[in-house]
Amino acid sequence: MRSTNSSPLAAIVAAIASAVLPLHIATAQVDPTAGNAPAATAPQAQPNLVVIIADDLGYADVGFNGCEDIPTPGIDRIAREGARFTDAYVTAAVCGPSRAGLITGRHQDRFGSCQNPTVDPSVPNNGVPTTERNIAELLRPAGYTSIAVGKWHLGTFPGLHPQDRGFDQFYGFLTGGHNYFPENLTLEDLSEVNEPWAWYRTKLLDNGVRVGTKKYLTDELSDRAVRFIDDHEQGPFFLYLCYNAPHTPLQATEEYLARFPDIADKRRRTYAAMVSAMDDGIGRVLDALDRKGLAANTLVVFLSDNGGAENNASRNTPLRGYKASPFEGGIRVPFALRWPGVAEAGAVFGHPISSMDIAATIVEAAGPLARAQVRETHPLDGVDLRPFLSGERDGRPHETLFWRWVEKGHAAVRHADLKLIARGAEGGGDLLFNLAEDEGERRNLLRADLPGISPDPLHAALTQWFEGLVPPAYPPLGSWKFND
Ligand code: CA
Repeated sequence: MRSTNSSPLAAIVAAIASAVLPLHIATAQVDPTAGNAPAATAPQAQPNLVVIIADDLGYADVGFNGCEDIPTPGIDRIAREGARFTDAYVTAAVCGPSRAGLITGRHQDRFGSCQNPTVDPSVPNNGVPTTERNIAELLRPAGYTSIAVGKWHLGTFPGLHPQDRGFDQFYGFLTGGHNYFPENLTLEDLSEVNEPWAWYRTKLLDNGVRVGTKKYLTDELSDRAVRFIDDHEQGPFFLYLCYNAPHTPLQATEEYLARFPDIADKRRRTYAAMVSAMDDGIGRVLDALDRKGLAANTLVVFLSDNGGAENNASRNTPLRGYKASPFEGGIRVPFALRWPGVAEAGAVFGHPISSMDIAATIVEAAGPLARAQVRETHPLDGVDLRPFLSGERDGRPHETLFWRWVEKGHAAVRHADLKLIARGAEGGGDLLFNLAEDEGERRNLLRADLPGISPDPLHAALTQWFEGLVPPAYPPLGSWKFND
């Protein structure tokens, strides 16, 4: 997703800006209500990296984006002591491909991880191909120790598991979702799966060994993340903490449900409890960094892997659509990061960024041994955010961002504040929005009664982007068949 600065695109954006409304320009602004941040000292070499991913969390379901019925003090602390991002995007509107883009720093449609993969462990290459290098693989030669905790969803076939892919440790599950109560985790392995969704019931993998657990899953994952920090204070490390909360099934303990007696809707109440449990864990992770004196030299990133889903009572307000949708509610996510000395406490960053920027940023920050792992033949699509966060560079990290919905035949491109959703006549017709004035994507600028704005330059940009893409490299999630 390299920036595209073709003159036709620039021209159309300039035309929109003058004809409609001034372009929405939001640069880093300091929130005067920001709390006490860790001391803003210059970062040392090789920062630690903590990436915390929520699963199907709504854009509006964190305090820093205005959520009122679910307190998220742990998550909000990241934004308050660091920066929040109003226009942060993931590379796909569903879990698997989004994570593939995030963890490689490259758009997953370049290497075939275009859709949620089958979790049938007998299907070869059902994840990120070994021709790609993920963040752990990029950082390992630079001396980093890495752990993946929680949901993997980047390959169940042998050779694609976390510890085959640069991670020193793994505690979690290989599939795209999981049951939360320990008494439900009864299968010894994926080999025992005999019906769809039974893969949600495997015991957890603890460094290659299936283990029994005693706690609510979210608490288990938090415990392991905290333990890893406690054991690795010498650093540098990469903690990839992938909660499956608040992805379905909607399951919460009485302890967390009791926090929300005033939420009448049962589904929303359970969702709130799940988010609250995750938020507790994130608070504990931040506390562990403090306890070990690591906060000043650790980049902490929090985001959701896609927008809130229709089936988990999440909210993406004011965005349109949900998980899987080409509208902003599918791909724009809650996003905050804390990095003392780089991101000013309380900053609000309004330009579009991408989840792929995490890899690009840490690779640059980790030094030449990490940078050397990025091959010229596999350039990163993310950009190093440090100069934009520090104010050294002004403007947009990405002028243009692209998406593809390979199963549906849809695609989308955002150039500056103009967004084209290309669906074709059979998919409902194309849509063009100016996000600066229409964040909720309600006013299609291609309507016949509106002043003519040609979408051709945006179509041309998409066509050019497609030239670098490949078809899906594996069968989709629903392809694992069982005998009745
Ligand atoms: Ca997801």
